[in-house]
Amino acid sequence: MTITAPASAPAGTDTTEVDVIVVGAGITGIYALYRARQAGFSVVALEAGSGVGGTWFWNRYPGARFDSESYTYAYLFSEELFDEWVWEEHFAEQPEIERYLNHVVDRFDLRGLIRCNCTVTNATYDDEHGDWTVETADGTRLRARYLIGATGVLSVPYFPDIPGRESFAGEQHHTGLWPSTPVNFAGKRVAVIGTGSSGVQIVPIVARTAASLTVYQRSANWCTPLNNSPISAEEQADLRANFASIREVLNTSLSGFLHETYDRATFEDTEEERQAYYEQMWNSPGFGKLISHYSDMTIDEQANAAWCAFIEAKIRSIVDDPETADMLVPKDHRFGEKRPPFVTDYFETFNRPNVSLVDLKSTPILRMTESGIETADGLAEFDLVVWATGFDFGTGALARMGIRGRDGLALTDYWRDGPKTFLGIQAAGFPNFFFPGGPHAAAGNNPRYNGDQVDFVLDLLIHARAHGFDTIEVDPAAEADWTAMIDRAARRAPSFGESSYYFGSNIPGKPRKYLLNAAGRPKLLSMIEEIKSSDFKPFQMAPGSDGRNRG
Ligand SMILES: Cc1cc2nc3c(=O)[nH]c(=O)nc-3n(C[C@H](O)[C@H](O)[C@H](O)COP(=O)(O)OP(=O)(O)OC[C@H]3O[C@@H](n4cnc5c(N)ncnc54)[C@H](O)[C@@H]3O)c2cc1C
Repeated sequence: MTITAPASAPAGTDTTEVDVIVVGAGITGIYALYRARQAGFSVVALEAGSGVGGTWFWNRYPGARFDSESYTYAYLFSEELFDEWVWEEHFAEQPEIERYLNHVVDRFDLRGLIRCNCTVTNATYDDEHGDWTVETADGTRLRARYLIGATGVLSVPYFPDIPGRESFAGEQHHTGLWPSTPVNFAGKRVAVIGTGSSGVQIVPIVARTAASLTVYQRSANWCTPLNNSPISAEEQADLRANFASIREVLNTSLSGFLHETYDRATFEDTEEERQAYYEQMWNSPGFGKLISHYSDMTIDEQANAAWCAFIEAKIRSIVDDPETADMLVPKDHRFGEKRPPFVTDYFETFNRPNVSLVDLKSTPILRMTESGIETADGLAEFDLVVWATGFDFGTGALARMGIRGRDGLALTDYWRDGPKTFLGIQAAGFPNFFFPGGPHAAAGNNPRYNGDQVDFVLDLLIHARAHGFDTIEVDPAAEADWTAMIDRAARRAPSFGESSYYFGSNIPGKPRKYLLNAAGRPKLLSMIEEIKSSDFKPFQMAPGSDGRNRG
């Protein structure tokens, strides 16, 4: 197939036929687009947003920034790209990340292949021809041999079902749908609902200028300091000089980070040594507090409790009001059970006279009214409400894409009890459809896993093309094994329970199934190598029934 219509085809036309359609222009989709074009496939990317960047396009709320070190999150496929982009901070802020992803799109001449403002509403597999018809919200139809859904795991913002939300007369924004025009908090009465990773980032910034800030907290989180800092010229030079070794460490790390693991267990140290190590952890950057911690911190209950006690003492020492401090100490989960948020000045913010905290467990929101938020304690009036209430994680975007595979099988039906995947890239019954960066895809520094998956998908496509195959479909047995491995691993610590959005638990009615990759990156990479050397044995490949081989 060749492109018969430009990337900017007018709405409603029915003319585009390409080898590959990529849905989504976040960090995963941009890479898939780059790899597909590089491999000689005709390709177009369809993106719902008006710009590229995915997460870093939509989440433009003040305070949005990486919890992964900037240079470990960025692309590693081009050393020139790595060399020429100068990250300002170890944990870059959203505007810089969005600029970076736009730079990549232009640097590799991909913009002309991306159609923005283009939401895919239906994608149907054609059993006869072995290809996909994709329909967008404006009625445009496109056909492609292969469909790559790079639609993200945190791309469908979730609003809790609170009556009267629409009746609120003030301004309201979800952090994941933040407007591109500036939002002014100065002198306003602001509410922030939600204290997950986004809520804790925005709270300190709103508090600086708002007349009042009321934070509505459903559950407290084990927040620890991000410890961000600018990247010095010397560090920049080191990063460049060590590109190869950085890539090597990232490729062999369990979760795609540079942080090293620590081989001591908690109670091998004396109380004094332990407190000193906890202090070191508290002052270390980002996810080091999870990865470089005592080896048993996430798996041993007492070890976990000892670290939690340390954080609790920190919270109580920072927050002046004992009642507020108590509310900020998590009571319902352990460290590492949920995604740990990293903060800058978060706990300190509650010492400001203009900031107050509401516990939603004891005083749930009853409704929103025209003027504000009503709880059992009465009505609080606001000018501006921020919804930091998270996302329909893992499967949300794919479930909304109207995907129908072999014999009209709807993906939503196939995944009714939770996702079934092989390597987090394909589901049986959905030939030629791949979803790198989707459910079962990553558990750690996302782009590292998602990039592996994109590379693997492109290797599959290249292999099929070289052998004259038109359809690629994973063996159901391979899918069952992988999915069972994820479900088994999810029952082991550090998951402890199912309180996290990793299990879809923030969405009412969603099946409680683990949505991350439980294998770790080295296992994923070794499986990929094994599969490649077996000529992709877990995949059934066949020439198209219409005889239109693309060898
Ligand atoms: C605030 C925030 C901070 C984060 N920080 C980190 C971090 O520090 N480290 C980390 O590893 N991960 C982080 N993440 C996770 C982050 O989502 C991933 O790192 C990464 O951005 C995923 O990239 P992606 O391209 O797979 O998906 P996304 O970036 O979500 O992009 C998917 C794109 O697909 C588009 N799309 C979806 N459905 C359709 C459709 N039907 N039609 C057309 N387009 C569609 C969306 O509009 C979106 O632009 C963070 C997430 C959030 C929300």
